[in-house]
Amino acid sequence: MHRPDICRFAPSTTGPAHPGTLLAALLCWLDAKSRQAQVVLRLEDLDPERCRPEWSTRIIDDLAWFGLYWDDVVQQHERATDHAAAMDQLEALGVLYPCSVGRSELAALGQRAPDGSWVYDNRSRGRALPVGGWRACDEPLRVRLPDDAITLRDESGDDLSQTPSRDLGDPVVRRRDGAFAYQLVVVVDDAAAGVTRVVRGRDLAASTATQVALQKLLNLPTPTYRHHFLLLENHRKKLAKLHGSVDLGQLRPHYDAARLRGKLAHFTGLRATAEPVTLSALLRDFSWERVRRDDLLIAWDGARLVSQESSR
Ligand code: GLU
Repeated sequence: MHRPDICRFAPSTTGPAHPGTLLAALLCWLDAKSRQAQVVLRLEDLDPERCRPEWSTRIIDDLAWFGLYWDDVVQQHERATDHAAAMDQLEALGVLYPCSVGRSELAALGQRAPDGSWVYDNRSRGRALPVGGWRACDEPLRVRLPDDAITLRDESGDDLSQTPSRDLGDPVVRRRDGAFAYQLVVVVDDAAAGVTRVVRGRDLAASTATQVALQKLLNLPTPTYRHHFLLLENHRKKLAKLHGSVDLGQLRPHYDAARLRGKLAHFTGLRATAEPVTLSALLRDFSWERVRRDDLLIAWDGARLVSQESSR
């Protein structure tokens, strides 16, 4: 029997929502609803340095204001039991090892990874866990990935094949501050929610092969992946994923939700003009064929979001 898909939107709660958050949420939501799938909102709030509970509350509120609704809302910090169980499983496989090699040491090697980080050269692979196992370890922990290539194409046709253990290096799964790391928890939480489709921004594409390698180790299914374009901004003369320049607190006095949906739908390619639009109208004729592929540079002029492409 054909089972309906389960999708998820998984923002990090490191700040208030911004237009890029809404764009990613909208595409994920339209993708899910257009295939009668369930869609879960998962607030990724594990980073003690960067996440704050008030950002979770604001993101939930901004998404609701925008009109999106969810079949379930999960806070990642409530899932620690499953995260620890995955660590136990990795320990039983004998693939966990401590590694205190810092970012500056990796930067000194000078090898950039496909995700923009520095390649880790797996130099601590030979180290053993302390007596007492991973729980007794006060250093960061990495997972020894198999040295196999992962062959992978996402649904949009992008080739995401990598040999993650070589191209990025073994991933950190628990950080020095004790927080479980993104690459591990994303895999555990997607599987626990029964997620079958992951729709997310292209900035995460280069992490996919590592996540698939972890799924294989943990014996978890691999969902279908699709990565979409990003909204970019000029940040210190460099193009960056849109983040800092404008948040929803600044936008909301200038836009109602229908106008902002129209604007983003226009940026996306789903609408020829930026006229206000309802979600049901967007849902009626949603198709990935019409979603632009290239990233889009936008700016905030103090009252409006403007595309830096002359035609928009
Ligand atoms: N929390 C991640 C982010 O906001 C996304 C995780 C994912 O979609 O896999 O960048």
